[in-house]
Parts: sequence; structure tokens; C-alpha cells
Amino acid sequence: MPVIDFHLHPLRYETYQPGAKAYLESVIGEDMEGYIARMATPEAVVEMLEESGVDYAVVLAELSPITTGMMSNEGVAEFCRASERLIPFANINPHLVASPAEELERCVKGLGFRGLKLYPTYQHFYPNESAIYPLYAQAEELGIPVMIHTGSSVFRGSRLKYGDPLFIDDLAVDFPKLVLIQVHSGRGFWYDRAFLLARLHENVYMEIAGLPPQKLLTYFPDLERNSSKVLFGSDWPGVRSIKANIDALRALPISEEAKRKILGENAARILGLE
Ligand SMILES: [Zn+2]
Repeated sequence: MPVIDFHLHPLRYETYQPGAKAYLESVIGEDMEGYIARMATPEAVVEMLEESGVDYAVVLAELSPITTGMMSNEGVAEFCRASERLIPFANINPHLVASPAEELERCVKGLGFRGLKLYPTYQHFYPNESAIYPLYAQAEELGIPVMIHTGSSVFRGSRLKYGDPLFIDDLAVDFPKLVLIQVHSGRGFWYDRAFLLARLHENVYMEIAGLPPQKLLTYFPDLERNSSKVLFGSDWPGVRSIKANIDALRALPISEEAKRKILGENAARILGLE
């Protein structure tokens, strides 16, 4: 079974907000410039994935000019062309395009994107707003999964009210065939909601990037029961070592089967990598 990291960002954005850069500095440490220089290319990222025992990684675009920064869809498409191990997910900021649904079609059919990520807390919209319903209809028709940031964010300008997983319940009801992924599993306030929604809805998943793996059973005491609905992600470069997170997950007192599912089997099914 492959190991799949469902949440990775390119290190070199086209622009960073100062807060995002300061956060990166705090993770990377003193050799920030050297690390960026070494890790900016897709080849370096693929080498790191190999050394970490990761077979595939979902690479995320992000158009969040107010809160974090800009990593364009074109930039991510180009980055992922270097290796079939890198799987591009587009971002559509509904405030920056006239027709989010048309933009998604362009990204998928024109640029080869395999999924969509939305950032409601960074881009200030409710996930269940009627104005972006055509975007979900388009994703469902294209047969691609949609990741939605839920829970807390440390970056200045984030608005946490948009991060409540409960909004995703509306989407699961209205788009039953659409795969919906709760990024960060409701981090902070809403672990119980994210967990329950993933149990309740056949196509709703929880992704655990940004959560310390050794704390997972504290946040989700019943993790094992939901292991078919949980996806491993690192949020690199927001963590220094992907391998350390994988090792911590492997050390949890849950079944080997559950670990296999979380580390790759569930993601392979969603991404059609079986
Ligand atoms: Zn992230």
C-alpha cells in the first residue's frame, strides 16, 4: 500500500504575507534562506518524499493575498509536471474570479488538476454560500474531490467563523456524490463535529494535517472506528519532518490496518491510484 501525503505546499510562493513568512521562519529555523534555496524545486521535494517513505503527495495552490500569500494554479501545475508523484490541487478564490465553476473546468481540463482546495477562513466566505454552489456542482460532475479548510488558523486576517465543519453538512446533503475533505479536522474548536460528519456522510472525510499525530487519540478517542475516513497530511513546509509525523502515527496504539488506511489506502481510493 502506498503512503500518501494529502497536504503539501510548494515552499517558494510567488508572494508571502509577513505573518506567513515569520511562521515559516519559526518552523525552519536559522537556515531559512538556505533551506528555501535547497527545497524550492520539485526534484528536491520528490527526493525528500522518497527519503520520508512517501509515494505520492497532493500539492496545493493557494490564492490568499490577505492572509498567507499567493501560489498560483499555473505555478502548481508547472511544479507537478516534474513527477507523477506530485498531484496538483487547484485553488479557486471566489472573490477573484467571475465564474468559479468555469475556472475549475479550466484548471481540470486545461491544466491537469486532480482536485480542488478551498480556504474559507483565509478568503472569507462560508462554504455553503449559494453563490459558490455551481463550483461544487462542477466538481461533482468532473468527479474530483474537494478539500475545505476547517478549524483554526494562526495567520493574521483569518476569520475563524468560516471554518466551522458544520457548513460541510449542507454540501454533503446537496452533493451526495462529491468527495468532501475536512482539512485539519476542525482543528481547535470542532474536532467532535468533524469526526461525526465523517461518520455520518459516506463521502465526507477528515484530514489530519497540522495536528500532532501523537495527540490524535486525545482529539479523537474513537479514531479506529473512523479509520476508513481519515487521511494523513503533513502541511509541509509547515512541519520540518514529514517522516517524524509518519513515525509518530505508526507508534499509535491502533491496529495496523487502521494505520495503513490512514497513511495511504483511503487516499489512494479517493485519488484513483489503486
Ligand atoms: Zn496547509
